[in-house]
Amino acid sequence: MAKETLHREVVIVGSGPAGLTAAIYAARAELHPLVIHGPQPGGQLTITTEVENYPGFAEGIQGPELMQQFEEQARRFGTEFLITFVNKVDLSARPFMLWTEDGHEIKAETLIVASGASAKWLGIPGEAPAPQGLGGLGVSACATCDGFFFKGKPIVVVGGGDTAMEEATFLTRYASRVTVVHRRDSLRASKIMQDKAFKNPKIDFVWDTDVREVAGSPETGVTGVKLYNNKTGEESEFPCEGVFIAIGHKPNTDVFKGWLDMDDVGYIKTAGVSMATNIPGVFACGDAQDSFYRQAVTAAGTGCMAAIDAERFLDSLPVPMASGEEVTIEGEVVSADREQVTMPDGEVVSNHPEGSNGDGKHADDNAVVYARHSTELPS
Ligand code: NDP
Repeated sequence: MAKETLHREVVIVGSGPAGLTAAIYAARAELHPLVIHGPQPGGQLTITTEVENYPGFAEGIQGPELMQQFEEQARRFGTEFLITFVNKVDLSARPFMLWTEDGHEIKAETLIVASGASAKWLGIPGEAPAPQGLGGLGVSACATCDGFFFKGKPIVVVGGGDTAMEEATFLTRYASRVTVVHRRDSLRASKIMQDKAFKNPKIDFVWDTDVREVAGSPETGVTGVKLYNNKTGEESEFPCEGVFIAIGHKPNTDVFKGWLDMDDVGYIKTAGVSMATNIPGVFACGDAQDSFYRQAVTAAGTGCMAAIDAERFLDSLPVPMASGEEVTIEGEVVSADREQVTMPDGEVVSNHPEGSNGDGKHADDNAVVYARHSTELPS
């Protein structure tokens, strides 16, 4: 039985940088957004330590503290939060329906999916976030975020795909040596990425090998990895001071499968010119739709975009879709060439009001040409 039915203009699923930035914008636009936290409130930054690349914090900031600031800023403008996660949706009509794990039924006039992605982990001893393991104390899944902390240190990268090659190559900027440990004897990565890694004199490879444990302690940080050669059965310990797990990411979008267009991995497809998905009124932002940049600042940027798109949609303004068409909340569809509007009842009308000359200007308008400003002094 439903605990409570809530009906909101903007519902945001996810509370990482994308979701909370969307919340700040939507709340300041007086749309009273509801954020559903998700299983990891605050998102991936809450399991990192120091964040040095988020603009505005010259001295760096701890990941959990940064996300606390995001949340307080969103609360300040009236964002509501639910600490639960969505386990079923129906996006067939507006208001969209969402059901949460704790029994809430939620009606959403617009929905912003900011459910993020999770790095895949090996599930081995020593890998979990501190204090249980050495995550944040030498174990990481993001070279861009944490590579800087490993200047002059030997590092292990686990994986054989494009992410592993990219992380390994990037880490050679800092590390004294990068050793890629891969479970097979050939890489899955694309040829160009493999070639770059093979040519890099700072990268070595250890083949047919599983990483079975990350060694070290909270005092020493990571001191090595315990390896198992799955061809010979040989066990060994390999000394290093950092371990980057690069075995892929999984977007947290399973609950939206069948409704939203996604790629093979599960990243939601957005329009490119907006954060619109294939369903008018549903927007996606952050890592749930970005397999490439995956940064807190880019996630925050797309969160802002998704909120502005939702605001426009609720204001009955046209929002660009992937097809190039624009849709409104009333169901009007503006053709990609902006020439026609298909009305909700199917009637097709010109997009140029009488008297307009088709380029957005009124036929009688006299062009006003401003003189170029000159910085030169009159002679
Ligand atoms: P992939 O799934 O392509 O590769 C994952 C790698 O991790 C594989 O080598 C796999 O081994 C290994 N792996 C998976 N699970 C385990 C495990 N439990 N233990 C040990 N090893 C494991 O993921 P990526 O993140 O590398 O790439 C995802 C997508 O993103 C790809 O399409 C890729 O091309 C793209 N991408 C593109 C980039 C670019 O062009 N710049 C950069 C990064 C990603 P095995 O090979 O044995 O299965």
